[in-house]
Amino acid sequence: MKRKLAILGSTGSIGTQALEVVNEHPDRFEVYALTANNQVDLLIEQARRFLPEMLVIANEDKYPRLKEALAGLPIKVWAGTDAIAQVAEAGPVDMVLTALVGYAGLQPTITAIKAKKAIALANKETLVVAGELITSLAARHKTPVLPVDSEHSAIFQCLAGEWENPVEKIILTASGGPFRTKSIEELATVTKAQALKHPNWTMGAKVTIDSASMMNKGFEMIEAKWLFGLAPEQIQIVVHPQSVIHSMVQFEDGGIMAQLGIPDMKLPISYAFSYPERLKSKAPRLDFNQYNTLTFEEPDWKRFRNLSFAFEAVRKGGNMPCIVNAANEIAVASFLREETGFLQMSDIIENTMQKASFIANPSYEDYVKTDAEARSIASEFI
Ligand code: MG
Repeated sequence: MKRKLAILGSTGSIGTQALEVVNEHPDRFEVYALTANNQVDLLIEQARRFLPEMLVIANEDKYPRLKEALAGLPIKVWAGTDAIAQVAEAGPVDMVLTALVGYAGLQPTITAIKAKKAIALANKETLVVAGELITSLAARHKTPVLPVDSEHSAIFQCLAGEWENPVEKIILTASGGPFRTKSIEELATVTKAQALKHPNWTMGAKVTIDSASMMNKGFEMIEAKWLFGLAPEQIQIVVHPQSVIHSMVQFEDGGIMAQLGIPDMKLPISYAFSYPERLKSKAPRLDFNQYNTLTFEEPDWKRFRNLSFAFEAVRKGGNMPCIVNAANEIAVASFLREETGFLQMSDIIENTMQKASFIANPSYEDYVKTDAEARSIASEFI
């Protein structure tokens, strides 16, 4: 039986690589649904190639073009964000890959969990915003949530066969991004183009900026806390510029397991798709002769304040991580429009954390309100 996949965010970096995995294993996977936000031409191309049952374009203005281009093919074509959630709960779907960007991933993930679809989670913001809600919902509906983020996939791979052994700590590796060695004075003037040049990973714009500002690593700490049921104190961030070790797990006997490889998102994607099996891959293998030095250093909390904000937010709990996420989305969008400086992004987050209303035990509706309120506070500050 082929596993039927719904790929939410199929035209992004993770989505396109997920389709490459499907393409390499047509005997294992079938594309049931694809959704995209805006990139209608690529979505049309993907639909013709994979012939899904359902297709959604979130931007309703692009619907006529999509509908017309696929006329005559047996594909149901919908538009709008509500349709994305409908796809996520469609009967025949076995697994939903959430590769949307930002807060937009929350609602469809909740819908998919309630419909008992296995989740391949590529949208870390879902767990940053509402980790408690998502993990309790997944437990109640007995829905597996499999990590696609490379660090969390690495941790998950290290934990395979060790489920009964308590974890002492997790060592979350970080490349340090393009600005690892830049001084605070230099950081004040870095440009969008410089921030978009990640040394090791090719990713979408949002996560690449988050990597440059280390917000990504802060979010990954929160993501790890929820995925693996740990306290923030059990998660150590270590800068490892070569990105060969994708993260590690330390057990109570002091033993440390690591997962290594050449940076390539197709491995975490295919591991989530086929877990607990591993699928054959033709990707280049790690050659230790090419990496005779692996280095490690402590992150700089002064230059990369977002790391502290993430720990502060998760310790405070409630809707605070949701506030940080919303402020960060506004800050990153503004930086990408070249209206906000690199360091100002952290000021926007700090200011929003101070001003937004705190809720200790938020419901889903509270998250929706918090997201809107924090976005408006952050926007005023720009
Ligand atoms: Mg990552």
